Amino acid sequence: MYKRRQKRGKISIYMYDLAIIGGGPAAISAAINAKITDKNFIWLGQKSQKAARAELVKNYPGLPDISGEQLVWALENHAASLGITQKDMRVLGVYKTGDYFSLLTEGEDFEAAAVILCIGVSSIKCAEGEERLLGRGVSYCATCDGMLYRGKKIAIICHDKKFEHEAEYLFSIAGEVVFSPLYKDCKLAPERGEILIKTPTAFVGDDRLERVVYGDTERAVDGAFILKSSLSPSALVHGIEIDGGHIAVDRALRTNIAGIFAAGDCTGRPYQYAKAVGEGNVAFHSAIEYIAAIKK
Ligand SMILES: Cc1cc2nc3c(=O)[nH]c(=O)nc-3n(C[C@H](O)[C@H](O)[C@H](O)COP(=O)(O)OP(=O)(O)OC[C@H]3O[C@@H](n4cnc5c(N)ncnc54)[C@H](O)[C@@H]3O)c2cc1C
Repeated sequence: MYKRRQKRGKISIYMYDLAIIGGGPAAISAAINAKITDKNFIWLGQKSQKAARAELVKNYPGLPDISGEQLVWALENHAASLGITQKDMRVLGVYKTGDYFSLLTEGEDFEAAAVILCIGVSSIKCAEGEERLLGRGVSYCATCDGMLYRGKKIAIICHDKKFEHEAEYLFSIAGEVVFSPLYKDCKLAPERGEILIKTPTAFVGDDRLERVVYGDTERAVDGAFILKSSLSPSALVHGIEIDGGHIAVDRALRTNIAGIFAAGDCTGRPYQYAKAVGEGNVAFHSAIEYIAAIKK
């Protein structure tokens, strides 16, 4: 299904026609459409925490009174029955490189001619200065950037237990750590540094990060690692147009960047399953039209 293009350091890079990013109903819908039309695609996404949470779904056509868990099971089972595999990966950046897009993850990198963003909406809002200082002291990826901070003082803001291995890796590298686990029952503690259970309100610095502000207190640091599942669309794709906190799209679910499409909650309200799966379908068809046009 795919072609290995080259190796960048230890990271393998693969080329696809289409990349689908996200793990919820919108992404599943796009992936099912890609599979049944035999497209060369890759699906990268972390499983949706939100989609299974509905106690009782009364508005999904054809499946009255189903729970969110059952609905997600049905969608995932449909994808699995077609032999579709989802790579459980967090995409950290989408960059235009010539006539295709490069997608960076923690382990492997991918290239695709078109991308569909099905990234949902995050309840974790960016703090002031976070996006401006991304790549200039602020990072979302311990394995990608950790070594830059060997022996230095860093802040680690960890939003989920599943990132504890990344936090431990950073503990082993950094000279001093300000560790903020923002979830319940964290048993980790850095050997060198402190635990500060506060949410950052601002990342401050002119050209580079200089300090992190946590409400009424602050710490001077060389770097800050924010370990969370969802990146904001503008942190993920530089230059993507946002409208009222959502990715701006037209009726064909095209974004302002040719070749990038978006579907589901990330394009705006209503936040509903039927909209998400419908948009996953529309975005897929628009992406395929785009790919056919650039291949001519
Ligand atoms: C409690 C609750 C009850 C609900 N009840 C209903 C209901 O009754 N009826 C109804 O229609 N809707 C309901 N919803 C809404 C419904 O769950 C959402 O509309 C639907 O899940 C949206 O699907 P999505 O694919 O757009 O986004 P999501 O389900 O949010 O999925 C987005 C996915 O993308 C992943 N992701 C994000 N960024 C990245 C990245 N950089 N790299 C890799 N993966 C990434 C996320 O981890 C997530 O898995 C409810 C939601 C909740 C929370």
